[in-house]
Amino acid sequence: METIAIVGAGQAGAALAARLRLKGHDGPIIVYGAESAPPYQRPPLSKKYLSGEWEAERLWLRAPDFWSAHDIDLRLGQPVTMIDPELGHLVWGGELQDWDKLALTTGTAPRPLLPGLAGRENVYELRSIADVDRLRPAFRAGQRLVIAGGGYVGLETAAVAATAGLTVTVIERAPRILERVACAETADHVRALHKDHGVTILEGRSIVSTRGASAIEEVELDDGSRIACDLIVAGVGVLPQTELAELVGIRCDNGIVVDAFGRTSAPRIWAAGDCACFDLDGKPTRLESVQNAIDQAEAVADDMLGDGRPYHPVPWFWSDQYDVKLQIVGLNRGYDTVVSAVSARGRSNWYFGEGRLLAVDALNDGRAYMAAKKLLDAGLTVEIAQVQAADFNPMNLLKG
Ligand code: NAP
Repeated sequence: METIAIVGAGQAGAALAARLRLKGHDGPIIVYGAESAPPYQRPPLSKKYLSGEWEAERLWLRAPDFWSAHDIDLRLGQPVTMIDPELGHLVWGGELQDWDKLALTTGTAPRPLLPGLAGRENVYELRSIADVDRLRPAFRAGQRLVIAGGGYVGLETAAVAATAGLTVTVIERAPRILERVACAETADHVRALHKDHGVTILEGRSIVSTRGASAIEEVELDDGSRIACDLIVAGVGVLPQTELAELVGIRCDNGIVVDAFGRTSAPRIWAAGDCACFDLDGKPTRLESVQNAIDQAEAVADDMLGDGRPYHPVPWFWSDQYDVKLQIVGLNRGYDTVVSAVSARGRSNWYFGEGRLLAVDALNDGRAYMAAKKLLDAGLTVEIAQVQAADFNPMNLLKG
């Protein structure tokens, strides 16, 4: 019986293990995780878990008895420090463990903290349950919060903080918020939403120095302005965790490079999720999303069991800020045109490249999102003029 080891107990590792067992693998399945919590969902960390609406148990991806009921061995609380592709060993908790096939689902880790922020007592990151448990007690009405980074972590944190009565300033070093992931039209809407809730967003600005001893009391920006603060949250992006793979010469380039089946450059070793970089429409692609973690992991599980199929996703993402649900489908890279459509419920921004639909951002417009998702899933497009039309109704796109 083959032993399958999964290194990384996040969304991808959990999905992979479950798929292997539910698809009939009857040998040992061992999931190794550095954190001590059972596999959990991260998206609520910057939303309902941070706001205190959810307790930790609601984050668990499976009921606690699922793992034992399916004879999936969770070995948690210690990192895997070495894998040996030739001999089929790994080291976890200082002990040698055997495997026949191995999957790396190691995810990402926050970029190193900015110089001046590292090691200060009132500086927080937001990647794990432990990070949020440390942050939550400091999240009190009236506190002055500075957030470094205007990506999803920064903006979702800003929304929870403003709602809780903190005074919030977001500092984004790029020319605008969400620059890496969304068009100016979507960013404009999100910026206005935060402004309506009293959040100050400073774009094209960086922290250059800080004042205070063990805790930071004030940050200085590159334009010389100063902001007094009680706490700082850094949401400045993440990096794929490739160290184990790199140590043994597995090919890595902005992630662990895999083929369409999730196979790495080493025999018997696959990778999936945020840590994996694969070819999508001719471009190296690394997706940081729940959709990708689950779907790529399941594709890998199938391939491990000899039932592989190329993985070719239409990615989707979401973000909740205040009462706005932002839903994104497709990848907008290479867009040359954005058309905005307003409906009775919300609005949507449609990205085109050379006249072909690439992606849609829907803001409180689930119907636009669903219509776009169905089109993109089916490999179809829509004419730019159709979306521009005054009577545009995304649901009509699906007729016929
Ligand atoms: P992110 O989306 O990469 O955004 C980080 C932002 O911070 C970028 O705009 C970055 O600009 C900026 N930045 C970098 N260094 C900075 C500095 N020194 N000062 C000010 N700004 C700086 O990453 P994230 O928001 O930290 O999120 C981390 C991961 O969690 C991502 O994978 C994200 O997709 C995921 N996440 C997703 C959701 C969701 O989908 N709803 C929610 C939370 C988290 P540059 O691009 O110029 O570096």
